[in-house]
Amino acid sequence: MHFGKNMSKIEPKSVLICPECGHKELETMPTEACQWFYDCKGCGVLLKPKQGDCCVYCSYGSVPCPPIQEGKNCGA
Ligand SMILES: [Zn+2]
Repeated sequence: MHFGKNMSKIEPKSVLICPECGHKELETMPTEACQWFYDCKGCGVLLKPKQGDCCVYCSYGSVPCPPIQEGKNCGA
């Protein structure tokens, strides 16, 4: 069992998939802060996290945000 606090491999990029138009955009996530809002580059809709998610990457991204990857609870 080697899943611990030192999981060093953090994936900083996530593909955001717009729930409105299906547009996919590869974005680099901020490592120190959660991103709450995102303007879809396809249709321009303003995305917000779903209830219970800390950021748009956790809700719509292919990879959750870095704090979540590290097993932290971001923002709380
Ligand atoms: Zn869109």
